[in-house]
Amino acid sequence: MDSKSIGFYEEPPGSFEKSSQHRRDVAMKVYKVGGSCLASTDDLNIVLELAKDKPIFVFSALKGVTDKLIEQGKKAEAGEYSLEELRKLHYDTIESKLGNGRQQTKAKIDSLFSELQVTLDKIKLERKMTLELLDSVQAFGERLVVPIMEGFLNDKGIPAKALSDREGGFITTAEFGDANVPDEQLPAIKEKVMAVVEEGKIPVVAGFVGRTRAGKITTLGRGGSDLTATLIAAALGCEVVLFKDVDGLMSADPKLVPTAKIVRKMNSYDALEVAHYGSKVVFEKAIFPLLARDAPLNIRSFRGKSAGTIIDSSVSDELVVSTVKEASVLEFTGTMAHYGALMTKFAEIKYYPLAMLEISYGESSIIVDTPKTERLLQLLAEFKFTVKSGYSMVALIGASMKGKSGIAVRIFRLLADKGINVDGIFASPSGRNISVLIEKQNLEVAANVIHAEFIGK
Ligand code: ASP
Ligand code: MG
Repeated sequence: MDSKSIGFYEEPPGSFEKSSQHRRDVAMKVYKVGGSCLASTDDLNIVLELAKDKPIFVFSALKGVTDKLIEQGKKAEAGEYSLEELRKLHYDTIESKLGNGRQQTKAKIDSLFSELQVTLDKIKLERKMTLELLDSVQAFGERLVVPIMEGFLNDKGIPAKALSDREGGFITTAEFGDANVPDEQLPAIKEKVMAVVEEGKIPVVAGFVGRTRAGKITTLGRGGSDLTATLIAAALGCEVVLFKDVDGLMSADPKLVPTAKIVRKMNSYDALEVAHYGSKVVFEKAIFPLLARDAPLNIRSFRGKSAGTIIDSSVSDELVVSTVKEASVLEFTGTMAHYGALMTKFAEIKYYPLAMLEISYGESSIIVDTPKTERLLQLLAEFKFTVKSGYSMVALIGASMKGKSGIAVRIFRLLADKGINVDGIFASPSGRNISVLIEKQNLEVAANVIHAEFIGK
């Protein structure tokens, strides 16, 4: 699908009174630049190239900054912290890349660092970190990066304006660390972002960060700046490009399957499955705003030239092998009524299992990611279940499998030929996902034979 002009002609009259003539012919695009893309000051030159397309920019924190902020938060909780390294990193970027606007940008950075210091002092004093405080701390990576990018672009003669959280319309739920932006916010996001475009400036939006109605800083979850970008694209009905340090979405994890190749095109529902089943290339929640909307997503390399992957609503015949390295089976005993209560609980705690293996009158088995089991053990304390770990999951994903017979048989045969036992199988009725549960030590062989058979050697 081609990127679509934001087309004021297509808008009902009156919805964009402020729209001025000079922007009418421009096809809007959202460009999200990931944290790993901002590793050296040279990377800012690539940003300058991208700015020629007059996109709406969304930025992640400079490389490694979110982790460093969390680390200092933990240190503050233990009684001692230091902001020297983080301060130096941001100052150095300003020093080497900004000219005239240096002082003004430094003043903004200084005031953000003062605010961060107040937060860390509070944590230090109380010796207690809450999810709410952790969000105020980890949000600084993105809050710091946007004034720098704004200053940098302005210095190069490209009018730009930084927008963070509320200024961009990113009012969220109060689920600290995993906040959501309700659909009703989309018109506000559109209005705020377009107001900057109408001024003839490039919006430079802080990814990952939002604010509750009550004014508290929230974050959307690690990797969440992808979601900031897709929300803007959904609000505007335009294309979104996620620039990453990989060439695109791969047909398997290349560390596990060396023959994995770039997937050129993928349907958005298929992509959602891929994100749910282990792929870290795109933030899972970022796909939701694009489902059933005319807003194609392109994942591509920041430094390379490859066209990357296009994810949109069209049907594609490419398949992907997704792998979950550490999976566990929760085995519940109880009646169907019991099972209903369990599902209600999952909805309440917003945990979406990898698969329901079996639901029968007397028992049910549910597959979950092993790293989440500790939390689940606490949250599901009122239920009786056992946990079996040591599994992996391999999922073959792609809606083009629908209606084709014999796929599961081929998977079973391939694995049997290698002496690999299948401990569980899950096939979605939509036909877009067939997954097997196997012992962890068989993951590499299983992923490779399935990939070779259905995608290529
Ligand atoms: N900076 C945040 C993180 O590292 C958000 C992002 O990168 O998308 O998780
Ligand atoms: Mg990051």
